[in-house]
Amino acid sequence: RMDEAKRTFVSEDLGPVVKKEANRCIVCMRCVRYCDEIMGDDALTAHQRGVRTEISSFDRRPLDCEQCGNCIEVCPVGALTALPYRFKARPWDLRQHVTICPWCSNGCTVRVGVRGTEILRARGTELRGVNQEYLCVRGRFGYSFVSHGERLSSALLRVGDALAPAGFDEAVAFAAARLEAISATHGPKSVAFLGGEKLDLEEQYLFQKLARARIGTNHVDARTRFTAPVPGAALLAATGGGRPLISFDELGRVEEALVLFEDLQGESPFAQAVLIRGQHQLGVHITVAHPRRVKLARPKFGGEWLATAPGGELALLNGLARAALDLGDPPALPPATAAMLPALRGALGAWSLERAARESGVPAEAIRAAAERMRAAQRKAIVFGRGIAEHPQAKALLQAIENLAWLTGAVTSERSHVMYLGPHHNSQGALDMGLGPDVLPGYVPVSEAAARRPFEQQWGRSLNAEPGMTAPEILAAAADGRIKTLWIAGDHWLRSAPDRALAERALERAELVIVNDLFLTETA
Ligand code: SF4
Ligand code: SF4
Repeated sequence: RMDEAKRTFVSEDLGPVVKKEANRCIVCMRCVRYCDEIMGDDALTAHQRGVRTEISSFDRRPLDCEQCGNCIEVCPVGALTALPYRFKARPWDLRQHVTICPWCSNGCTVRVGVRGTEILRARGTELRGVNQEYLCVRGRFGYSFVSHGERLSSALLRVGDALAPAGFDEAVAFAAARLEAISATHGPKSVAFLGGEKLDLEEQYLFQKLARARIGTNHVDARTRFTAPVPGAALLAATGGGRPLISFDELGRVEEALVLFEDLQGESPFAQAVLIRGQHQLGVHITVAHPRRVKLARPKFGGEWLATAPGGELALLNGLARAALDLGDPPALPPATAAMLPALRGALGAWSLERAARESGVPAEAIRAAAERMRAAQRKAIVFGRGIAEHPQAKALLQAIENLAWLTGAVTSERSHVMYLGPHHNSQGALDMGLGPDVLPGYVPVSEAAARRPFEQQWGRSLNAEPGMTAPEILAAAADGRIKTLWIAGDHWLRSAPDRALAERALERAELVIVNDLFLTETA
């Protein structure tokens, strides 16, 4: 049909995960546009022109990006393929299972292709889940742990200095007997339950029920990375007190998004992609408060970067709240919140914009402008994560976010547009299920007799009314010998505890340490 010579290109590895077969490419530009408009990376481009057009990286070196592999997903002709998967299987040989990515709290839906018991690839799912076809690098390529050879296949019991394989029944019986014995000798308050953010909701519920209804201790805390005690319901209050929360879909349609002290690139990649797409397609204006110019603060996205001095977080939040308050009372506050305005006005009186600017390092005019944008926007969002929750001043910062949310209208009597992105896939569930020392499931205070009663009736015993210790307090108590038993679920405590030396002392002094995990960690 054609006289011209057929164009041919050399196949190319574009880094560790993408292989390009350019002879298949129809130059539809989907990969280039996805990389630019959704990922914000510009790692791919078109070289040459006309029939010689070829897709590659700018300098034909490995792709300078986060290696998410979404370009592979959107390529309609298989010109971009996944190096970890290609030639391992035919798609029709794989069983397809739809599941949820376990790597962060964004909850992306993943379709895994399985042969035998081995996952050979992971893809996004069309028309399902919050993420549609999107997956970040961890969701798309981080599945080898499932069939990793070092994954534990039996329980391990410590005999002398070594851990020896044991049957699960034997290990459970041993742990239960020791747990009961230590609790009987030293009292229920000598037992603490830690971790659990990687468990599912049912497991989280049972974990804290075991602590409270069987052992009788409130020393329960999933927030093992917290550096300071924070009330269990503080995050709930900061995110709108239980009001319906903003969805990812709504996040991508706001006029103004305020991202507080979080690098979403590493912590919540899908939330970042939602904002980048929203900025590109709908003009979402993004304000990022962070000491570093993180990806979302790049000039490409046309937003504002509030370059906050380390340690200036509280000053900036109070400055923003003060600037919002100076714009007048927020409309349509519920009566209980409106009644607190005079006290709030008094508390923020000390936070002039000049002081906030001095202590945060952000110019007063930038603080005022950010508050005005938040106040003026009809659709708005405040986004934060562990940068706040695990900060030494977390309690005060969460209170400041609650103030800011009400004063800017991010929280109203009906809705909350404050999004907390926890560090693990079920950090939110851990809060909801009562994996905190002062709250039962549903944020019910353990110290309130009437609120406690339904649980006592359901669980068939009276519950300890005294709030337990938080994770930092448990760490210190175990290190000085007051806590004798530590049960750590799905948490590498030696890595997550803010003070490793203290955690080592705590583990050494404990009479019984029970660890649930997929792999043998130093913690065990
Ligand atoms: S998506 Fe595939 S076919 Fe389209 S330009 Fe990219 S490599 Fe070529
Ligand atoms: S954004 Fe989070 S949930 Fe989604 S694929 Fe990446 S790690 Fe998994």
